[in-house]
Amino acid sequence: MATSPISEANTSMFEKFSPVTGEKLGDWPIGSKADVDKAVERARKAFPAWRDTPLSERLKFMKRVGEVLAEDVDYFATRISEDTGKPPVDAIMTELLVMPLFIEYFEKTAPRVLDRKRVRNPLMLPLKKSYIEHFPMGVIGVISPWNFPFQLSVVPIMTALVAGNTVILKPSEITPITGDLIVELFERVGLPEGVVQVVQGDGSTGAALTESRIDKIFFTGSVATGRKVMAAAAKRPIPVELELGGKDAFIVCHDAPLQRAAKAAAWGGLLNCGQACTSVERILVVDAVYDRFVKLLLEEVKAIRVGPPSEDPDMGPMCFAKQLKIVEAHIKDAVAKGAKISFGGNEIEGDGQYFEPTIVEGVTTEMDIYLEETFGPVLPIMRVKSEEEAIRLANDHQYGLNASIWTLDVDRGLEMASRIEAGQVTINDILSSVGNPVLPFGGVKNSGIGRYHGEEGILSFTHTRAIMADYGRLSHEPFWFPYKGKYPEMSAALKAIVKGNIPRALLAMIRSR
Ligand code: NAD
Repeated sequence: MATSPISEANTSMFEKFSPVTGEKLGDWPIGSKADVDKAVERARKAFPAWRDTPLSERLKFMKRVGEVLAEDVDYFATRISEDTGKPPVDAIMTELLVMPLFIEYFEKTAPRVLDRKRVRNPLMLPLKKSYIEHFPMGVIGVISPWNFPFQLSVVPIMTALVAGNTVILKPSEITPITGDLIVELFERVGLPEGVVQVVQGDGSTGAALTESRIDKIFFTGSVATGRKVMAAAAKRPIPVELELGGKDAFIVCHDAPLQRAAKAAAWGGLLNCGQACTSVERILVVDAVYDRFVKLLLEEVKAIRVGPPSEDPDMGPMCFAKQLKIVEAHIKDAVAKGAKISFGGNEIEGDGQYFEPTIVEGVTTEMDIYLEETFGPVLPIMRVKSEEEAIRLANDHQYGLNASIWTLDVDRGLEMASRIEAGQVTINDILSSVGNPVLPFGGVKNSGIGRYHGEEGILSFTHTRAIMADYGRLSHEPFWFPYKGKYPEMSAALKAIVKGNIPRALLAMIRSR
């Protein structure tokens, strides 16, 4: 059973307000260090039995996750929407739909990936067998953000479980309803006691988790917090994975499919109100097609309907009030430095945290809107002379999460993609790579460390064990004592190996025995 282990002694609470109406939705407890430590002890106790549960059984629990979501998809979508303000269709498309894809991927891939593999020996080490195998780390601490609070918690949780670990989740204090929803999900799945636990709370709870006796931290959030998480992990030290921010470049080449590119930029930049680590945050358009592209983009953005989830809008309110202030500050800074607002640019008056979809032109490399993650419904555009300049700008940045390239010459697009310093690149598409469970996901530079999704993702929740077995028939090995008289033959063996003369090398080894 999944649990949310908050002790009765805990009196500190945090408040949650609706991004849609501004009304208070409730109070949630701030998990203390003692709460976290108790959860860790429960998780440690649950670990051996879960580790020893056959993978086929663990996968059945994951299948059940998909079934529970499918049984009650409206309920899950509505609760996520209430918590975040995102349109219910977004809640399905970006939070829930990936789950069955990942579950199917785990079923197909995990048995092979986690299986022990026999590997070759160098010819110099005959009569032995070498193997690589992977084993779970123990208790994984997952700390998640508010922008995709369900997906960014449940995918790492499931991956860690498949690999044989137990998990403690610290969800974002901005989206505690989703935290409760995850408790409910795993309760309905019927996992054994202590295998998945959720400790609600704020940054102090997250910090307590990073300081506790966990075996790995999987963190998704801002660079500033990521630094603290890594520093905490360094104390013990334990492995840490950081999925951080981005400032994704969207490169429109001279031969881009402009209509498709304009629609993609609007969706990729304004989806979830632009509150995505993989959001389009820098549109770099070559001079030759600039005017035509911007005209098409303007048409797309003008057609976007903003409103509460009940009105089935394209864009809801922003989830986090503080983020709206960052968006305003970036726009103000850009205008002060000479940028032009071609559309939108303002908070929408009334209840809730609504902001207009916004296009900013004339962006330069000195502006905050270019340098920092905006994480809002803003499309900053820059005119560039050439594709070369676009690649240079895309790479000359603190972030390296995602990028997209728009050209009808796909081979050239591939060649450009290989020069982009980012964890993911799409060509004539946007965000699609994130939805393919086979493709590893993660960033470079300030966008993070490590990869989840794909085979690498499964293995990232394991340690690797190397095994070598000898048949045990010989009484001793050429490398063992005594050394007396061995030097010339070992020297001859080295020279023979370098020349590729393996028989000679083997002869030298035999002689040295
Ligand atoms: P945040 O760093 O403020 O918070 C993330 C989580 O860390 C929250 O649960 C928070 O309570 C917790 N936390 C805060 N202080 C902590 C501490 N000292 N120790 C441990 N945990 C602590 O980030 P956010 O505002 O929730 O999320 C937005 C950021 O996340 C953006 O920068 C976005 O780009 C990034 N993000 C990255 C990815 C990715 O996959 N790369 C995905 C989504 C969001």
